[in-house]
Amino acid sequence: MTADVARPLPPHLTLLYRGPLASCDYDCPYCPFAKRRDVPETLRADRAALERFEDWVAARAGEDPGTRISVLFTPWGEGLVRSWYRRALVRLSALEHVERVAIQTNLSGRVEWLADCDRSTVALWTTYHPGQVAHERFLAKATRLVELGVRFSVGVVGEPEHLAAARRMRADLPEEVYLWVNAAEGRTYTDTEADDWRALDPHFHYSRHPHVSGGLPCRTGDSVLSVDGDGNVRRCHFVSESMGNLYDDSFRARLGPRGCPLTTCDCHIGYVHLESLDLYEVFRGGIVERVPAARPRMLPLVT
Ligand code: SF4
Ligand code: SF4
Repeated sequence: MTADVARPLPPHLTLLYRGPLASCDYDCPYCPFAKRRDVPETLRADRAALERFEDWVAARAGEDPGTRISVLFTPWGEGLVRSWYRRALVRLSALEHVERVAIQTNLSGRVEWLADCDRSTVALWTTYHPGQVAHERFLAKATRLVELGVRFSVGVVGEPEHLAAARRMRADLPEEVYLWVNAAEGRTYTDTEADDWRALDPHFHYSRHPHVSGGLPCRTGDSVLSVDGDGNVRRCHFVSESMGNLYDDSFRARLGPRGCPLTTCDCHIGYVHLESLDLYEVFRGGIVERVPAARPRMLPLVT
């Protein structure tokens, strides 16, 4: 039997981290985490797991010199209402070898703490949930992020009942802020409906249909990894097969390029890494926070 050979980390490693937290202060009808509460033991475990992950990222400067790291926190629920996620962003953004640290958030919490981050490194992937937050309140937070110089994108789930609110938000957001639209899970769009959404997000066509991915080269498992609170490493959030553990280095033997084992990939945080798509070019410099390299040219509104 040949021993597994540990491979060096790539020059740039992207980590998608999701700990045990699964609670949210919002009540979106399309979400299983709506108004869910975590028991105190889960919150304590989430905090300890996050701090362990931060320590691992911090230690790469000495143990894996030459590897730059980007992190996207993708909690099931809302992380930024918890102090330990805010602290993690402040801490990781200050590390020289961390290129970008971002989190998916509903932006319900305060934003002033972001002034303590290195704002050339920190970023937010925000989602606007009409029905959960007033237009003015979300817009005021977004405006403050612009004033603070924080990179961020704003997203909307493409439910028909969101269309008017999304149009209003697009009209009121500063032009340089990218608003993306995610196709709603399980929903198909007629060409006319898709045109409505594409008028708001010229990149909506990437989200409209799942991408055929079976056997195609995907950067996950090689330069992109999914990590859970126990340090279990998988190539992405959607493939269940384990690559080993982050904290005992066992994942390193499995690092390497290989094709996607699933037939399709329908979530942006997955297919953005598919090599058959041009999304590393489209989102160059803003891949984890979903900020395109160039502000997409707006299409005329279909009325
Ligand atoms: S804000 Fe996000 S996590 Fe919270 S209920 Fe809505 S969709 Fe779910
Ligand atoms: S294409 Fe999607 S599902 Fe397949 S390995 Fe890549 S991220 Fe995972």
